[in-house]
Amino acid sequence: MKSFVTGGAGFIGSHLVDRLIDDGNSVTVYDDLSSGKREFIKHHLGDNKFTFIEADLIDNEKITETIAGHDVVFHIAANPDVRLGPKKPDIAKKDILATYNLLDAMRKQDVKKIVFSSSSVIYGETPPLPLPEDYGPLLPISVYGAAKLAAEGLISSFCHTFDMQGWIYRFANVVGERGTHGVIVDFINKLRKNPNELEILGDGKQKKPYLDVKDTVDGMFFGFERANERINLFNLGCDTTTEVTRIAELVVEEMGLQNVTFRYTGGKRGWKGDVPQFQFDVEKIGKLGWKAKYSSDEVIKMAIRDVLDANI
Ligand code: NAD
Repeated sequence: MKSFVTGGAGFIGSHLVDRLIDDGNSVTVYDDLSSGKREFIKHHLGDNKFTFIEADLIDNEKITETIAGHDVVFHIAANPDVRLGPKKPDIAKKDILATYNLLDAMRKQDVKKIVFSSSSVIYGETPPLPLPEDYGPLLPISVYGAAKLAAEGLISSFCHTFDMQGWIYRFANVVGERGTHGVIVDFINKLRKNPNELEILGDGKQKKPYLDVKDTVDGMFFGFERANERINLFNLGCDTTTEVTRIAELVVEEMGLQNVTFRYTGGKRGWKGDVPQFQFDVEKIGKLGWKAKYSSDEVIKMAIRDVLDANI
């Protein structure tokens, strides 16, 4: 299979690339390195099954030229920082345009399959229930969430209009090896600067499911190989959650620190657009035969160790 991976030099994308190459596929990574890192893909450079194109998805001509001849597109590129929204709402504009450009290039070059990394944030502020894929109305409360929902809509419309096929995965919070952002990295960085006090955004009671990055990739392949509708939509996560204060305690423990004061910034959200609590209904992917390998707490512990070992 000839795969085109946007965002393949990023945290999740680079694990996906490893898996594709391990399975014997040839891979083209299209990434502008805005948040990705060359070192995440450096072990593939020079391999004749691997091509790296450093370019922005805003560059219409470049995508159209380089996407030709591929069997499937994994669209993983996006600005991943949901917290940026209030300061830089134009991240949504860029990501929506990037997705449109990509789909239009696929249409022109007759590439028929797209796998997309969406997010739980498309559900917006919801009642405290495990959310099934058919929950609605979908009213995101962050511009990042709005861009993800727009991308889902564009993918669905292109698939129906131009006889393409799509696999859309709404990820839980993904953590693990090569993690470069998010709550664990944030806490570790803060504690390295000041091991006596940790600032925690919000009231610490935010509660979300966490999924290991390699398990995320495994779930994506599992659904891609087995689901065969025009649009295949799945929540990808586990059925347990972890509270932010618990994450802070685990980071402190794993770093071997003592007597750390937790200073909460207050309010139930970590930032404007943060959905403080959510839970996934993962029955749909479960019925196909896939289940997360670890509980949310186990994933957090593993990820803390990975991030500490990597020393990013
Ligand atoms: P990441 O920042 O490590 O990866 C994103 C990659 O896309 C980076 O390599 C970046 O350089 C590249 N990129 C961004 N804009 C681009 C553009 N215009 N053109 C070309 N390349 C571009 O982030 P990640 O955590 O690995 O996230 C990967 C995907 O999964 C994103 O779409 C993100 O929204 C989604 N997602 C992540 C999580 C999570 O918890 N990490 C949760 C839900 C969804």
